[in-house]
Amino acid sequence: MTSQGWNAPDLRKRNRAGILRLVHRQGDIARNELALALGLTKAAVTILVNELIDDGLIVEAGEQAGARRAGRRKIALRIRPDAGLILGVGIDAERVQVLLADLSGAVLGVRNLPPPRALPHAPALGESEDGIMGARIAAAVYAAAAKLAGGTGFSALGIVGAGLGVTGRVDEERGVSLREPRLWSAPVALREPLEDALKLCVSVDNNVRALALAELLLTDARSESPAGLLFVKYGPGVGASWTMGGTPWPGAHHRSGELGHTVVASEGPICPYCGRVGCLESLVSAHALELALGRLEGGPKNHAAKRFGAGSRTDELCELLRLRDSAAYERLASRFALALGNAIELCDPTAVVLYGTPFRQGPLFDEIARRVEANERPCDIRRSAMDPALPALGGAALALERFFADGGAACSARI
Ligand SMILES: [Zn+2]
Repeated sequence: MTSQGWNAPDLRKRNRAGILRLVHRQGDIARNELALALGLTKAAVTILVNELIDDGLIVEAGEQAGARRAGRRKIALRIRPDAGLILGVGIDAERVQVLLADLSGAVLGVRNLPPPRALPHAPALGESEDGIMGARIAAAVYAAAAKLAGGTGFSALGIVGAGLGVTGRVDEERGVSLREPRLWSAPVALREPLEDALKLCVSVDNNVRALALAELLLTDARSESPAGLLFVKYGPGVGASWTMGGTPWPGAHHRSGELGHTVVASEGPICPYCGRVGCLESLVSAHALELALGRLEGGPKNHAAKRFGAGSRTDELCELLRLRDSAAYERLASRFALALGNAIELCDPTAVVLYGTPFRQGPLFDEIARRVEANERPCDIRRSAMDPALPALGGAALALERFFADGGAACSARI
């Protein structure tokens, strides 16, 4: 954009982006509906849609149902799912995950790698922990992506971009993990080494913000995309993302969405992440549940307590707590509902989506929703449509958003 306003190529890109986003979201939309929604003339939409059809990004999918009754034929437009592939990466304390998906979010392949500190050492590209860790991750992701690509070059295969969601505080503009004590002790630049290794543009953001975007872009919920979405992830910790008009808000200091570190009790252990007493995560995290169950079993040295050690899934721990200490389980649901209720009061969202293994099955979702709904807020609370075993979908959504924002142009970096 120039200082005087939009120039012609910028306008064209912006309008192509608008069309791609709307067609993707609606999955079945006619040219005149696009013109109306985007404030463009029908002639301008026709030119741009023809371009996108010629580029292979959009296809005509037959006549819209019921369109004849309205008079003129209306041809539905759809994104071609195989018009491009996106590479998603997810990093948390349990693993690095790399997946390949098409533009509809259908997953074509997944590789799970060890967590960052357990990755093999790459040839050192820097002396600092930052440089070494970034290089290790980039080398491992490249190797996994190459296996997913089956020996075909990334651009030849049609990969149009990559995205990475990582736990902790992230500067999404610079692609740097600012703080994640569970993974590293200093900031780690991630975008630059990944772009160097993959020769693709890589968008980087906090994992929960990335997953909120995936909920909006890569699931069937996209056709009814809520104007204001509060997306909450549980397991092993608690995180959230506040999304307005389809864009997750990172916060003025990259700290938005720390629902897990809002205080819901006057006592409890000191949280190792925020340093407070009584924050939600310190009371309901997988680690907190392990400790609670260990105490029930007679102390952390008790043999039975070791069963709840590293690797226990948060959903299994919640279920054990429900069976063995119903009062503690009720407190968990009440504290979660209290934090959610406060967030709903603040944000007034259209919908709250709960993501993570504890909400997939079992009664916890209903227990929490019932308590929040008791506040009589006009807010739809629902389960996420995404499989918690695929955290890298968040990275894929970042890549797709970038692809659309660029008007459907593949983004290659540093070739
Ligand atoms: Zn905390």
